Amino acid sequence: MKIDVHVHITPPDIIRNYKKIGEKEPYFRLLSETPHNRFATYEQVAEHLQENHFDKGIVFGFGFQDMGLCRYVNDYTMEAIRQYPDLLIGYMVVPARHKDLEKEVERAYLGGLRGVGELFPEGQNMEIATLHETAFKDCLLHYQLPLLLHTNETVGHYYPGKTKVAMHEVETFIRHHQELTIILAHFGGGLLFFELMKELRAAFANVYYDTAAGVFLYDKEIYNVAREIGILNKILFGTDYPLLPISRYDESLSVLSDKERAMVMGENAKKILRF
Ligand SMILES: [Zn+2]
Repeated sequence: MKIDVHVHITPPDIIRNYKKIGEKEPYFRLLSETPHNRFATYEQVAEHLQENHFDKGIVFGFGFQDMGLCRYVNDYTMEAIRQYPDLLIGYMVVPARHKDLEKEVERAYLGGLRGVGELFPEGQNMEIATLHETAFKDCLLHYQLPLLLHTNETVGHYYPGKTKVAMHEVETFIRHHQELTIILAHFGGGLLFFELMKELRAAFANVYYDTAAGVFLYDKEIYNVAREIGILNKILFGTDYPLLPISRYDESLSVLSDKERAMVMGENAKKILRF
């Protein structure tokens, strides 16, 4: 089974009005105005997955700061999974500290969404090191929802969307949320290398890493390093589509054996995620 765990979908009217929406959503504006940026509707995503013989894709709207916009894109994600129930798995986006969090998570869950993400700690102005003091964790545990969290490396070249959230903040968040299944996007901003520390390995037992945008960031040897560390079973294939198509990952994945590639491209995700 082949699964892409990191796919962005955008409703057509947000694509048409992205400049207007960006006026009140600075992180959305930053990302949507970069030359690399692309938007895709769920129909386009479905076509792309099918053309590449993928069995499943996890899709979600943009993690806005505004609850109303989050609700709006969650509705669109619910529509997507109704149209493609066998192909698409929908996640919900939420402002994690909002007073109506529980209401929206319940509504989205009843609408068929089965995870939370991609959340943007800095982009949504959502300090994560103290998030355990809110209703967020219980809410996710109650519905058994995995969380896809944006993380990025804080070294190397700048690109729009690269945030300053430090590794120790993500670590603190994880230590307080060890019961949750957490996917750290973009190879965890390099946090995966620290699974070499015994204490982190233990606290990160339910943490996984997706490969999204990895071809922009790392040499393909990162897959060999993951094997060496002993965490190849925690690496989940994600494209960040429409930023990058599936085919762009072929070359880097070529360092893996057929069996390992099957693990990364879907078998690992199939084991841990509820569909
Ligand atoms: Zn991301």
